[in-house]
Amino acid sequence: MLDSSRQRVVRFVGAELMDIYDKVIAGERLDYNDGVRLYATPNLSAVGYLANIVRERLHGDRTYYVRNQHINYTNICNKFCKFCSFYAKKGGPSPYEMSLEDVRRRLTEHLEVPITEIHMVGGINPRLPYEYYLDLLRTVKEVRPGVHIKAFTMVELIEIQRQAKKPLETVLVELKEAGLDSLPGGGIEILSDRVHQELFDRKLDGEGWMDVARTVAKVGLTQYATMLYGHIETLEERAEHLVSLRALQDETKHFVTMTPLCFHPEGTELEHIPHPTGYDDLRNIAVARLMLDNFAHIKSFWIMNTPQISQTALWYGADDLDGTIHEYEITYKDGDFGNKKQVLTRPQMVKMIEEAGRIPIERDSLYNEVTPTEEPTGRSLHLIPLNASTR
Ligand code: SF4
Repeated sequence: MLDSSRQRVVRFVGAELMDIYDKVIAGERLDYNDGVRLYATPNLSAVGYLANIVRERLHGDRTYYVRNQHINYTNICNKFCKFCSFYAKKGGPSPYEMSLEDVRRRLTEHLEVPITEIHMVGGINPRLPYEYYLDLLRTVKEVRPGVHIKAFTMVELIEIQRQAKKPLETVLVELKEAGLDSLPGGGIEILSDRVHQELFDRKLDGEGWMDVARTVAKVGLTQYATMLYGHIETLEERAEHLVSLRALQDETKHFVTMTPLCFHPEGTELEHIPHPTGYDDLRNIAVARLMLDNFAHIKSFWIMNTPQISQTALWYGADDLDGTIHEYEITYKDGDFGNKKQVLTRPQMVKMIEEAGRIPIERDSLYNEVTPTEEPTGRSLHLIPLNASTR
């Protein structure tokens, strides 16, 4: 005879997921098959419920955000990934390459906001010499001393190394000396040779990505991790990606956060693929939280998931919403390639989190708590209304 509290759990979670529930309660590691089942079950509420147990065990109601600014320094790229709408092409965005003066100007536009993180990534632009990357980092630190620079995907690092003609470890040490603090970790999208072959075979493969990540860990830099979902990957490939990331983290212990990234087909070669739904977004957050027991944080990146889904995701395993952003060129609102403004102010971030019944905590890039200071009033910002879709 089951006691009544367990009966209630069985009714909600379903008998078929009770073995996973028992593992979650006992703090046991889930295996690859558990991951596939969590992706396949139609009972999303149960997956969210399980993920929320882990989320609250780790963070209670605490929900993190950062005041940051994104800079995408060039959209010229020779990799032509099929899922990408960012790189310059006919009928798409016009090519650009930011000079150091452009970067300085972009930073100065938001100088009155107490930003703690600058996030910089760009295309693989063979015209940019090694010195450009070093000067880029130095310029940011000069304009904003003390800021944390999170920059360059693993693919960009390989290009920077090619330009430098030096071993990757030496390049990373020199980038660090110039101001690099951590790596955003992107570039592999999903660790699957099949998907790599079909969608982005000019970029480094899974093994290459893992080797670069190991070198990043070796020089003492922090890294973040992502997974792009909702294109041609299978549920099994998603589970494999999470298990591989987890194994790498066991080895290196240098990852801080994992962010499932929702694929946006608009303006890509995969425009015929339907956009992932809110249901997909919540499930990917929840399964990541359950499988990645050695990652402290799971992020719902509001630009990709919308502010609304991100609020809900705070009950499906997410404890972080990223930040204020300011400009974002990787995906475009309504196919408008000229519209780079995508910003939430600190009061908007706080409101979003409080509306969802959680406690907002302003953090820096390494999750140290920051004492919030008000932003100056009267600034002219193009805000995203909280009730508007960004898709
Ligand atoms: Fe280039 Fe990155 Fe876009 Fe691939 S995803 S085409 S590497 S900018």
